[in-house]
Amino acid sequence: MTQQIPLFIDGAFVQSESTTLIPVTNPATQEVIAQVPCATDAEMESAIASAKEAFEDWKEVAVSERARLMLRYQALLKEHHDEIATILAEETGKTFEDAKGDVWRGIEVVEHACNIPSLVMGETVENVARKIDSYSYTQPLGVCAGITPFNFPAMIPLWMFPLAIACGNTFVLKPSEQDPKTPTRLAELLVEAGVPKGVLQVVHGAKEQVDKLLTHPDIQAISFVGSVPVGEHIYRTGTDNMKRVQAFAGAKNHMVVMPDAQKNQLINNIVGASVGAGGQRCMAISVAVFVGETREWIPEVRDALAKVRPGKWDDPEAGYGPLISPQAKQRVLNYIQAGKDQGAECILDGTECVVEGCPDGNWVGPTMFRGVNTDMTIYTDEIFGPVLIAIEVDTLEQAIELINECPYGNGTSIFTASGAAARKFQHEIKVGQVGINVPIPVPLPFFSFTGWRKSFYGDQHAYGKQAVKFYTETKTVTARWFEDDIHSGPNMSINLK
Ligand code: NAD
Repeated sequence: MTQQIPLFIDGAFVQSESTTLIPVTNPATQEVIAQVPCATDAEMESAIASAKEAFEDWKEVAVSERARLMLRYQALLKEHHDEIATILAEETGKTFEDAKGDVWRGIEVVEHACNIPSLVMGETVENVARKIDSYSYTQPLGVCAGITPFNFPAMIPLWMFPLAIACGNTFVLKPSEQDPKTPTRLAELLVEAGVPKGVLQVVHGAKEQVDKLLTHPDIQAISFVGSVPVGEHIYRTGTDNMKRVQAFAGAKNHMVVMPDAQKNQLINNIVGASVGAGGQRCMAISVAVFVGETREWIPEVRDALAKVRPGKWDDPEAGYGPLISPQAKQRVLNYIQAGKDQGAECILDGTECVVEGCPDGNWVGPTMFRGVNTDMTIYTDEIFGPVLIAIEVDTLEQAIELINECPYGNGTSIFTASGAAARKFQHEIKVGQVGINVPIPVPLPFFSFTGWRKSFYGDQHAYGKQAVKFYTETKTVTARWFEDDIHSGPNMSINLK
């Protein structure tokens, strides 16, 4: 019988009572590798209640002890790095190298969480008025919840619960129902690291379970990563229910190619950034903006893309794996067809892609369009597949205007040898994460993941100092200690005396 993914409630891995099960499939073969239960209402209530109870103790645990939990967790994640990457590769189809990257970028966030004592330090000012001092503390919020997407089943859960827990909160994680085995392993290792009972809960399911978290009065904050329509729903519902919400959503990321860019480096970078992971990255480059004479490089970019071959996760020659599901594949095929129907020129067509030995996999080969205008759905929508769109402009100013008019603002990059062009681009572009000769500028965890506009709803972003702000409240104390018994009468003004 296929393995049923357990829930992790009140410190125990338990089989759900639910009769609603979602199959988890190997996307290269369609073999069902597990069943994920949609947690019952009683199970959701019990996870939230356990997290609420655990908070009362956990918030009193010394910050250095919370840091030590993260140190032990970091060591265990490193020790089990390849094992987690194997689970991840099997359920997502990512190549082993890419799966290792997914795990590693999560470990880096845990490393950052080990610095929690200095990250939660408050501020002090002596003598804000005569003999009066002010100081601030950061205190945890309570029970926080995280809802994560399929495309980074290690990194994105690790963006969330380690820092939230290190700040003194307890956490309910609802991972993607498409690849729940990796987050389950992450939870097991946190238990091995010594997390107290109830501090982390993992529940499974889909919309119904998410809506329970969004509306439950005992949840204080919601972190979400996923698509735009769901992100909008999460932000609206969560804030309507008076919760703090950060919602990271979809993207359309442009790379600007300047005539002084080093051509071979540019081509190598554009290939990896566009079709790597099958284009299923929120920071994937989906639009290449060729400036001036660089439009003549388009055929060479196409030829380089044509050499990339998808394959199974353990095929060392594979450039990327299958798409996550047959539905995801069909969605990408529909966009490619719409591009053709709307008059774009498909100069590389991956729709008939076949991978030997895996006839049932969700394969789409590298695909490239040119002659695209900004009204076409292949430009307006996030495709989330191995599809690169080439747009041709005459000047850097036109490239900047194009990107700033696109509603998404997750990531962008420029390839150039000119400091002046790079400086103008980084200053004028309305996108939250900018790469200069770096195609996928995902910040390291001591910064924050700072998507803008339609790619992010909220104000404090993931990891870094902003996440610490997101997961804590600031308390400011104003204190006076009387040295004598002199009474000067009541102070009837707002000023400190
Ligand atoms: P998704 O929005 O379909 O699902 C994300 C999560 O929301 C899952 O846990 C899912 O169970 C839940 N969910 C789905 N439909 C829901 C609904 N109607 N109501 C409540 N919850 C619901 O996203 P996905 O397909 O898993 O992930 C891919 C998307 O995530 C892409 O759009 C990608 O750009 C985005 N993404 C964004 C970032 C970022 O940082 N901006 C990072 C990674 C992925």
